[in-house]
Amino acid sequence: MSYKFFPLLALLPCLILADDQDAGHDSRPNVLFIMSDDHAAHGVSAYGGRLAEIAPTPTIDRLANEGALFKNAFCTNAICSPSRACVLTGQYNHTNGAFDLSGRVSPGKQTLAIEFGKAGYHTAMIGKWHLKDEPADFHFYSVLAGQGTYFDPQFRIRGEKKWGKNTIKYEGQHSTDAITDITLNWLKKEWDQEKPFFLMHHYKAPHDYFENAPRYEDFLKDVAIPEPATLWKRDERWGSLATRGHRDELIPHIGTSNGARNPRRNYLIDLPPRFPAEFPSDFNPDKHSDEENTRLAYNAYLKKFLRCVRGIDDNLARLFKHLEESGQLDNTLIIYTGDQGFMLGEHDFQDKRWMYEESQRMPLLIRYPKSIKAGTIIDSCVENVDFAPTMLDMAGLKIPSSMQGQSFKEQLETGKEPSDWKQAAYYRYWMHMAHHDNPAHIGIRTKTHKLIYFYACNYDGGYQTPPAWELYDLVKDPHETVNLYDDPAHAALVTSLKKELAETRKRVGDDGSHYPKAEQVVQEFWDYDAKDREKAAKISKHFLKRRKAELAAGKRHINTYEGQTNDGFPQE
Ligand code: CA
Repeated sequence: MSYKFFPLLALLPCLILADDQDAGHDSRPNVLFIMSDDHAAHGVSAYGGRLAEIAPTPTIDRLANEGALFKNAFCTNAICSPSRACVLTGQYNHTNGAFDLSGRVSPGKQTLAIEFGKAGYHTAMIGKWHLKDEPADFHFYSVLAGQGTYFDPQFRIRGEKKWGKNTIKYEGQHSTDAITDITLNWLKKEWDQEKPFFLMHHYKAPHDYFENAPRYEDFLKDVAIPEPATLWKRDERWGSLATRGHRDELIPHIGTSNGARNPRRNYLIDLPPRFPAEFPSDFNPDKHSDEENTRLAYNAYLKKFLRCVRGIDDNLARLFKHLEESGQLDNTLIIYTGDQGFMLGEHDFQDKRWMYEESQRMPLLIRYPKSIKAGTIIDSCVENVDFAPTMLDMAGLKIPSSMQGQSFKEQLETGKEPSDWKQAAYYRYWMHMAHHDNPAHIGIRTKTHKLIYFYACNYDGGYQTPPAWELYDLVKDPHETVNLYDDPAHAALVTSLKKELAETRKRVGDDGSHYPKAEQVVQEFWDYDAKDREKAAKISKHFLKRRKAELAAGKRHINTYEGQTNDGFPQE
């Protein structure tokens, strides 16, 4: 039988599909993508770790208990706007153009919203957006302006006026509560239930400066927060010329700190005026030892952060309860992640941006009981560019060729890694020495090792800090305390990983053409021979002088950026 003679039969598949959708029987899953801001995996109790017992996250953990947990999910650039752009487009930042915090994804390019919309999904974007342009490719949006505020948050909505001018304010509310209320309201009143939904639900919390709702003020009040060993003592074998400087001379100036190590920016300067209740009433850092100061700052930091996390966990309980009561919970693919990780005192660092584990790793927990077995643990290296193709694939939709990421649906459904799956995650942080004094770097992360190359210059090749390489064995040394790059026993591994890094750059298309002057520096120090090391030591000395002069001049924001001062950077 051929369609030639039975033309009506040719229409049959369409009719069935249309009928199915019209009748509200669309069997495709809803997709709920939940992303917090700066919530590290080691701040989720399902991942274990030193904070799991004192600050459990039972609601988030539920997704892993009843679904899958990814041990090796990584962002490709550990900072807010770029990571969001990767998730939305399925592309690396050198492709989607969102290299740093000035990154944007314009209407017409918000691929996930476009693809789900085309397929008949009802799409919504609620909470922190941080990609500048209007989220116009979503059917509905209610998003914070830029970073937004923790209290009395204001949201940009669609309206008569120009993008950004139509706003609604949630007076007296905390942002985590308000974002959940907006989502609940959308699900109850706005969602067209004839269609499955694709909903991006993004919290501002626990981004710095960690302002929790007042009801959490007593949480962890009398608890001494467990400390990472590297907060106090960095192994002498840790780091490189890039992170320590020549003869350790740059230790104060690379990476912002908990205690007083970094004189330009640290939590002893930043937290006492913001959160006086976390410090003794007559607090004066000059009257305490370095150790006492660091412990006070670290505890204030972690408590505020974990209180914000608790607000997220409690609010997700409200959201999941609604899905359960409305019969949607098991029809919904639920994904929880953070836009990247966060250093919670490890190596005496704060913030993200680093390729070190705590910052590069993303929490990733996914529940969809119709095809994911409860308690699935996945150790494949997956990147944030893989999230978009996976969501489309799980919904049975085609993955557009513009997406560079791969779907990990097979891992979710079988718990096994396909034989052709990538073996290394790519990483590149471009914002050299901005905000938190992190040198620009590039690298790969395999299941067992990490190779980091601090090429350490601006887009235009300027404001150099010393370039260097670091290699960590994540099986024997999960906290990255011993740099093995110069260990003769690892010379062959260094050679093969460098080759893999070069090949990965080709695979993802980061070929140096975007910023040729930075690429010249990347190439110059690639082999890192004796001459390169000598030059790096000179750069270290030169930078130290420069930094001391900047500090003496009282400048707080001091990096140059394409000819501008750091004050010209968009909000973090
Ligand atoms: Ca972030």
